[in-house]
Amino acid sequence: MSGIIFRLRQIFSGSAAFYVIATFMASTVASTIATSANADQFKQIRSPKTNEVIAIQNVLTRNDSTAVPTQTSPFSQAQIFLDKHAAELGAPGPYQKLTPRGGKRDRRGMLHLRYNQTYSDVPIFGSGVTVHLHPDLNVSSASGKILQKISLNPRPRITPKKALRLAKIRWHQKYHSTGVQARRPLLYVFNQGSLLHQASTRNFLVWEVQIFRRRSPENMYYYIDAKRGRVVQELSGAQNLKRRVWDCGTDTGQYCYLDKSTTVYSKPIVLGRSEGKPLRPLHPKIDKASGSNQTNLVYDMLGKTYNYFKYTFGRKGCNPQGGIGIVGDVDFPANTTSAVTYLNYYSSHDYSKLCPTAFFDGHGALWFCTEIVALDIVGHEYTHALNHYAISDSYGFPSGLKYQGESGALNEAFSDIFAIAIKNYAGSNNWLIGDQTRLAAQLPGRALRNLSNPTAYKNRLGYMPDRFHSDLVWCNDSEDFGGVHHNMSIPSYAAYLMAMGGQFNGCNIEAIGRTKQEAIFFYTLTNGYLLPTSNFNHAYGALVTACGDLYGVNSHTCKQVTKALKAVEMDQPGKCSGLPGTRPDCEAVDKSTDPPQPDLRSPSISIFSPRSGKKARGRKIIRFSNDETSNPHCAVIKGRWTPCKNGVTRLRNLRGWKRIKIGKRFTLYVRDIDQAGNIGSALQKRIKKIGR
Ligand SMILES: [Zn+2]
Repeated sequence: MSGIIFRLRQIFSGSAAFYVIATFMASTVASTIATSANADQFKQIRSPKTNEVIAIQNVLTRNDSTAVPTQTSPFSQAQIFLDKHAAELGAPGPYQKLTPRGGKRDRRGMLHLRYNQTYSDVPIFGSGVTVHLHPDLNVSSASGKILQKISLNPRPRITPKKALRLAKIRWHQKYHSTGVQARRPLLYVFNQGSLLHQASTRNFLVWEVQIFRRRSPENMYYYIDAKRGRVVQELSGAQNLKRRVWDCGTDTGQYCYLDKSTTVYSKPIVLGRSEGKPLRPLHPKIDKASGSNQTNLVYDMLGKTYNYFKYTFGRKGCNPQGGIGIVGDVDFPANTTSAVTYLNYYSSHDYSKLCPTAFFDGHGALWFCTEIVALDIVGHEYTHALNHYAISDSYGFPSGLKYQGESGALNEAFSDIFAIAIKNYAGSNNWLIGDQTRLAAQLPGRALRNLSNPTAYKNRLGYMPDRFHSDLVWCNDSEDFGGVHHNMSIPSYAAYLMAMGGQFNGCNIEAIGRTKQEAIFFYTLTNGYLLPTSNFNHAYGALVTACGDLYGVNSHTCKQVTKALKAVEMDQPGKCSGLPGTRPDCEAVDKSTDPPQPDLRSPSISIFSPRSGKKARGRKIIRFSNDETSNPHCAVIKGRWTPCKNGVTRLRNLRGWKRIKIGKRFTLYVRDIDQAGNIGSALQKRIKKIGR
């Protein structure tokens, strides 16, 4: 099953799931912390920036198929957990609810159930909780983001139609009006602080309007104040290597390599290469500079990228159809991985030359200038598409980590982390991004970025940071979407430290290897641990929690993961918060141990004598084995227990023995209850009483 959150119908067949949904839709989560018998088995992870609980881990994480009755539904198990813990997560409030949105079962059999945070039934933008359950339905962890202290009138004053009109006015100030499409406006409670570097207590009721141009990477989200009609925020729907979204069809003499279509542009077009088609010959104009065929290169690189995810994680493509496009789209269909390569192209805004760049347009295709075609760049852009389809919004539409501030930097970091993984899969094991592009020769350091040594590489905003409280962190919200291509080096450096180990910022991290590091990031990305507006603190909670679910909470592997994330200070408020940073407490991570595991095992008992179907007199000595301690009891009449001892007690010592007539058959029961209350028992049937 692909990674997007599916509707219930697709994973839990039958009507039971719908019953559960209907029940919990109507209920509000409990507002008090219920005291649990196992209260200390749950460990909280807090965000230092907001002090909210962002993840809860079951430190006694286990998968015990005998522990839960099988008829329990996943959602009712999750609800029992949420009833106990929603208050810690910050969910309570008179109008606030956690509403089940859907769920998925992963390849390991774990269930990931997504809950929207809603306020008077309006979803909170980018917020919610995912409860992660073992195959036996024991809750393993929960992760999420809850917006606190909401107070507003949830009824919009302007209509969705008006919101659409207002968004279009804003669009036309910047982009072409031809071929423009818009999606149905969606209502949200919106907090700018969930995207920008400064936290905010101000919440707006907004209409989200997505506008994009078909066959173009121009793709924007507008957040229109549903009371006053002004644009509260705009976000790019495209995820590019540079800081703006560019247009294709604006210059004569421009060549597009476009898979499957020759009719998209009125400009000169050269057909690219479709699946299974032979190699393209060199094109005299486009391939002149590189001397190699760009279409064939991208075709092969997309194949390697697709195969990496397929053969490493069983993931076939980005969306449920196996491609990156949209259902019903003619040029970039859902089941197709489309890419466009450019010799050159120009801004539709000011006609400036925009190559070199590359991007995922956020709705259908990957775009590359020819001088930047390389496997890591293709892998990077492809991972943006995966991100887009792996993380859903509150309405269930593809979203990805929103392209602004910390969530945008995380989106970029995931792309670089998997770009490196894909490159490694194809046989190149360095940690450089862009070193194999034709552009590299012109770059200081011969690469765009270096995940193993971020501060040695410079972009337009300066040298890149290696930790969250570094002076190099970029805090301006209006440049580069808040520094998404700059602050990205913080999470990606943590990935490097996990995989390869190292000493950094007072932390000593032992290598867990690339395989586990990649598995943890992939599992986190594709199983609901992250939400569209997750920030670095949430990502810390998500990665630590996902690692715990994969390898065990206090496993050696997860200790290294936690230390790597602490070393880059992702568990701290960060430079842009204005709050002070502290020295990472990595020694404490090394020392942490599991609390004592509860005894869940029942005593195992076998009766050797007398045996089923045999004859026995009253003087017969009862013999049995019991692997726990103890206080065994025996009975010849059900429920009438007598303390008994192996090899000592005789049948005639048991209560009720005399009431069994000679010649009649009886059952012998042996039972033991250990100190934790687990019961073990055994029996032998149809024993014939032949003497007193
Ligand atoms: Zn990117």
